[in-house]
Amino acid sequence: MTELMSLEFNELEAFVKNELSESSFRAKQISKWICKGCNADQMSDLSMALRDKLNSCALFSYPEIKRKLVSKTDRTVKYLFTYLDGESVESVLMRYEHGLSICVSTEAGCNMGCKFCASTIGGKKRDLTAGEILGQVIVAQKDCGERISNIVMMGIGEPLDNFDNVIKFIKIVSSPNSLNIGQRHISLSTCGLVDKIDLLAKEDLQITLSISLHAYDDNIRSSIMPINKKWNIDSLMRACKRYFDTTGRRVSFEYTLIGGKNDSPEGAKRLSELFRKYFGKAPLHVNLINVNTVRENQFVSSGRERVEAFCKVLSQNGINATVRRRLGDDIAAACGQLRSAEIQNTNT
Ligand code: SAH
Repeated sequence: MTELMSLEFNELEAFVKNELSESSFRAKQISKWICKGCNADQMSDLSMALRDKLNSCALFSYPEIKRKLVSKTDRTVKYLFTYLDGESVESVLMRYEHGLSICVSTEAGCNMGCKFCASTIGGKKRDLTAGEILGQVIVAQKDCGERISNIVMMGIGEPLDNFDNVIKFIKIVSSPNSLNIGQRHISLSTCGLVDKIDLLAKEDLQITLSISLHAYDDNIRSSIMPINKKWNIDSLMRACKRYFDTTGRRVSFEYTLIGGKNDSPEGAKRLSELFRKYFGKAPLHVNLINVNTVRENQFVSSGRERVEAFCKVLSQNGINATVRRRLGDDIAAACGQLRSAEIQNTNT
């Protein structure tokens, strides 16, 4: 069986010609139906014989909506999706002034072990294929009936730990023959796999690279993010600068504020110095996020005033920083919380 949604358009054309013995223009018809979330039986401009043939040799990777939570305060939607093998992931649909944005998962579970994160609790079960990641966007778009215009890879999983599938997903979803979501509207977030950041730079994509930094020194970072023991802040910041130099794309940094851990005004000053040391006058952007307390850890969030104060120190030091608006608080919208609750439910 061929997983259709993991094929780039030229591969789909080859499949149509070689496996289905059809003229390659059928590829356009099939990808149009896929964008609408349809299966072979629903592809009404294909002959019955062709639909049967597709059913016998092609697999569609749409996930099923297992649960759906809608925030009462800001209409953020959280989906718990399951794939055919029973693995589940989460996606979150957020409404911004500039349009609908989806946060997708790239792996079922995660091996990175960040202490504050609910997604990593049971480890990684498996990678998702390009088509399975694409399926999250298509099913959410079909369900909400509006066009999704932005994608962030900030759901469950470490995108750079599933490199080939993630690159393929980006190429497919941004293609005019698929959902045509411009690469400038796609962000990839990583905890900092330095060797893969260098590989990513070579891919010549227009996406935004977002780094989960969360600390201004190695002691703090290693205590909350095990990856820092392999790739420390120095190696990470150098890789980020190389990424900027190669691609010309401004790098974005995520900084989760954890009460009493990394959120002091002095810390903000140290963070500013860190950025200046490696980036000089090169542009960058910092997103400040208050930690979401998850059941399994004891981290407490910084008070609103402390977050504002942290942001102010960064700005005073010439660092472009904003405090991320919290969406979907009432539906546990931070990644991994729903999946982890679901796994616990099925285990008890
Ligand atoms: N593995 C990738 C992408 C998934 S995590 C990465 O590490 O970037 C997406 C973002 O959510 C990361 O910045 C991560 O550090 C952050 N995050 C995870 N758990 C969180 C929590 N409990 N509170 C706030 N942010 C969290």
